Amino acid sequence: MVNNVETLVNVLPIVLEGGSAFARIGTAESKGPKLFCASGCVERPGIYEVPFGPTLRDIIGLAGGVRGGRRLQAVLLGGAAGVFVGPDEIDLPLTFEGVRKAQATLGSGVVLVFDDSVDLVPIVLRIAAFFRDESCGQCVPCRVGTARQEEALHRLASRPPGASAAGEIALLDEIGRVMKDASICGLGQTAYGAVESAAKRLHIFEGSSPR
Ligand code: SF4
Repeated sequence: MVNNVETLVNVLPIVLEGGSAFARIGTAESKGPKLFCASGCVERPGIYEVPFGPTLRDIIGLAGGVRGGRRLQAVLLGGAAGVFVGPDEIDLPLTFEGVRKAQATLGSGVVLVFDDSVDLVPIVLRIAAFFRDESCGQCVPCRVGTARQEEALHRLASRPPGASAAGEIALLDEIGRVMKDASICGLGQTAYGAVESAAKRLHIFEGSSPR
C-alpha cells in the first residue's frame, strides 16, 4: 500500500512526461523532486520543494537562515525517528546516498533547526517520551526498551554535579542496539536514533551542567 502523499504526487509527472524525464531530476541515486520541511529556529519555516541534491546549508538558506542570525547548534534530520547532526555537517548533501554515507537519514524530510539558545536535553527527553507513548507494546525490545531509555535519560539529566555520564550512555547504547536489532517494526527500530546522535555526535550530556 502506498499511503505517502509525496509519493503519490510524484506519480503524476511520471505518467505525463515519462520515467526517464523524471529520472533526469535529482542525482544519480536520488531521483525527482523532494519536499523538505524546515522548522524550528529559522526565519521562514515552511515546506520547500527542490530537485534532490541540496545540502543542509541550502535548505536552511531557503528558509531564511538561522533566526536572528544566531549560531547554529544542531539540526534534527528526519523527525523524531531521525538523527541529530551538528554545524560541522552543514554541507551534508540531502540525498539518499549523502545521508547514508553520513549515517544519518532523510526520514520524513524534516529539517528541524536549533540555534545556540536551545537546551537540547529537554528536546531529547520529549522525543524519548514520544516513543514510550507510541510503542504499541506488542514486542518486548520496544515496549521495555523505550521505557528504560526514557528512565536512563532522566537519570542523566538529573545526575549530581560532577557525576559521570559514561555508565548511563553505555546502558542507553545497549538498550538502543537491542531495540534496533530486535524490534518488530520501524518504531522500535528507530527509537534510539535521535538519542544516540544527541549523546554521541553532539555530546549533549558531556561537559554540560547536570539538571
Ligand atoms: S516495535 Fe512496533 S510492534 Fe514492537 S512494540 Fe514497538 S510499535 Fe509495537
